[in-house]
Amino acid sequence: MASPSLIDAWLDTFDPSSSMAAAGTLAGGAFVQHGRGIFELRPTAIGQRAVAVVISVGVHGDETAPIELLGETLARLEAGLVRLGAPTLLLLGSPEAVVRATRYIDTNLNRLFERGREGTSPEQLRARELMTAVDRFFSAHQGRARLHLDLHTAIRDSLHPRFAIEPFAATSSPAALWNALHGAGLQAGLRQHAHSWTFSHYSRHYHEAQGFTLELGRVAPFGANDLAPLRPLGAAIEAWIEGAPLGLDASDGEVTMPLYRVAREITREAEDFRFAFADDLANFSELPPGALVGADAVQGEIRVGERPQRVVFPNPRVELGARAGLLVERLG
Ligand SMILES: [Zn+2]
Repeated sequence: MASPSLIDAWLDTFDPSSSMAAAGTLAGGAFVQHGRGIFELRPTAIGQRAVAVVISVGVHGDETAPIELLGETLARLEAGLVRLGAPTLLLLGSPEAVVRATRYIDTNLNRLFERGREGTSPEQLRARELMTAVDRFFSAHQGRARLHLDLHTAIRDSLHPRFAIEPFAATSSPAALWNALHGAGLQAGLRQHAHSWTFSHYSRHYHEAQGFTLELGRVAPFGANDLAPLRPLGAAIEAWIEGAPLGLDASDGEVTMPLYRVAREITREAEDFRFAFADDLANFSELPPGALVGADAVQGEIRVGERPQRVVFPNPRVELGARAGLLVERLG
C-alpha cells in the first residue's frame, strides 16, 4: 500500500475511527504521526541556525482560520513548494472539539498546560498528550532555538484584530522577535503579568522556548474566514519550517508595534457578575480613569485606576473564580 500523504493523514485527524500512525515523505524530509493531530516533520538535513518549531491550531475547536491557514502550508509542503529544513511539530489541539465545532467539550483546554495536574476530563487527557508530544520534541533538539506559536481567533472584534500574547516568564522576548511578528502582520503585543497555564506558556515556562499565543481576528466557521490578512504570518511560519533563523541576532532596537502590559486581571467572584459596558465591546477599547468596569456581590464595584486602561477578553459568563477579562495599559 502506498504511504499516505501528509494532507490525507492530517484530514484523517478529523475522523476518530482512522489510523493514528501514518508516516511518509516530504520534500526535504519525512513526517511521522504520533497520535491524533500530532505530526512531527523531520528534515533530512537540519540547517545550523534552524529553529525547533511548534505550531498549534484548534486548541479551541471553533477557531477555524488558523486550521485553514495551516492547511495551506501543509498543501505547499506536500507540493514541494515549501521544503522542510527545520524540525517541526504540528498540532491540532482539540480534534474532537473541532469536529463538534465547539470551543471545548468539558472545560477550557487552554488553562490546563501545567505539569502534575490530575483529572480525566477529555481536555485534561488531551492536555497531557500534547504536553508529552512537546516534551519529547524539544528534548530531541537540545541546544537549538525554540519557537512555539499557538494560533487562535478571538470571540469579539478588536481595535488590533491580530495581536500576540507573550506569556509570563522571567525574561521577555527580544525586540527583534516582536518586530518579526509585526512584519508577519501582527498589529500589537500583550505581555502577561503572571503565569497562566496556556499552551504557549507551557513551552516558554518548561522549555525556554519563545512562545506566543496569536489572536488572529474573529471566530468564524470553516469556509467563512478571510485568510488574506493571515498570509504574511503563513509565509513567516513557512520560512521557519524551511530553516530560517529566529532572527534574534538582528539589531535589538525599538519594538515597532504597540505593546501593552496587563495591569489587572478581573475574576468572576459571584453569580451576579456583570460588566458595565456592552456585550460586544471590542478588545483594546479604552476606558477613562475611574470608569466603572463591572461589579458583583463579592467584589463590589471594579473601577479603572488612575491611568486609562483598555479591556481585553471580557467574558462575564466564565466559571466562578475564573478570569472574566483583563485591564491592560500601553507600555512606553
Ligand atoms: Zn482560542
